[in-house]
Amino acid sequence: MIKINDQIYIDTDSTALAAYTTFRLGGPCKGVCNCTNKEQLIYALKFIQNNKSPFLVIGQGSNLLVSDQGIDAYVLRYFSETPNIKAMSQFELEVEGATILDHLAAYCAEQGLKGINYASGIPGTVAGAIVGNAGAYGQQIGDIVKYVQIFDTGLGIVKTLEGADLNFAYRESFLKHSNDILLSARLKFSADNPIELKTERQSIINERKDKHPDWHNIPSAGSVFKNVAPTSNGGRRKSAGWFLDEAGAKNFQINGAKVFPKHANIIIKDGECSAQDVLNLIKKMQEAVRQHFKIELEPEIRVIGKFTPSQP
Ligand SMILES: Cc1cc2nc3c(=O)[nH]c(=O)nc-3n(C[C@H](O)[C@H](O)[C@H](O)COP(=O)(O)OP(=O)(O)OC[C@H]3O[C@@H](n4cnc5c(N)ncnc54)[C@H](O)[C@@H]3O)c2cc1C
Repeated sequence: MIKINDQIYIDTDSTALAAYTTFRLGGPCKGVCNCTNKEQLIYALKFIQNNKSPFLVIGQGSNLLVSDQGIDAYVLRYFSETPNIKAMSQFELEVEGATILDHLAAYCAEQGLKGINYASGIPGTVAGAIVGNAGAYGQQIGDIVKYVQIFDTGLGIVKTLEGADLNFAYRESFLKHSNDILLSARLKFSADNPIELKTERQSIINERKDKHPDWHNIPSAGSVFKNVAPTSNGGRRKSAGWFLDEAGAKNFQINGAKVFPKHANIIIKDGECSAQDVLNLIKKMQEAVRQHFKIELEPEIRVIGKFTPSQP
């Protein structure tokens, strides 16, 4: 155990990242530091940077495939079971990145705030969602970001960036490719009827239960690949699941890594399964679509750590 201050510690004993990802996969890191608010995260970041140690910031680990060998870095886990949401005006909220995305969606439905209901039931934190511009039903979180507060790891300072400067695109943002750490965000909403929002929220949650694996019981990281970009301007993305289905990937399995029977774009861990098995299955699915359609599927999940080159 490394003590940073009276409230923040780095746990150097329980370092297996499988405990911190929804895939329940991933080897050890140098130590795990749980930060539940931005003051703790900034403090821990400064401590780790002063010691010139490598680090990785994660949220709920719901978009990650971490290698079996693990990573040679400290992991700062920015995650809080207690929502940190402040109303700044009638339609604007200041939300800490550690807040669970679904807690935000539930709060907004209750308050009659429209703009995040589609995210009902998506796992992960608000920070993880903004970094990867999470979305569903044709909507994405970048649409409601007014500005964000980040920790600039190059300069070691806290900065504010306009939402418009984050280059949000389908499952993309500028933050995904920078070393900046998202601390909090100012989000803007519009008015709606709370009863209607709550009814819609429940039907979205029910639909997810029907079509997706319940991540509490069935380990996965959601969609493996991004939907496929249209070939003409104004066209819509085509579901990666459709291409995988047509390419015969639905029955693919490598050890306990299996394509989810109800959704060809999701891999689940079912029994004995390593992260390497999952990566090998990803390559096999990619190869099937390449052969069938001459299309290159682009992974949506973030692959972290060292893997051996796969033999599909
Ligand atoms: C069953 C299931 C269903 C899903 N459905 C959807 C869906 O419908 N739509 C969708 O978009 N996604 C979906 N996902 C994927 C996932 O839930 C989202 O991408 C989520 O927003 C990731 O948040 P997280 O906190 O878990 O991020 P993590 O997985 O912890 O991290 C993701 C990336 O963001 C970086 N990161 C995290 N926090 C910070 C920070 N504070 N500052 C800088 N970088 C940071 C990490 O380093 C990592 O590279 C699903 C996942 C599962 C398991």
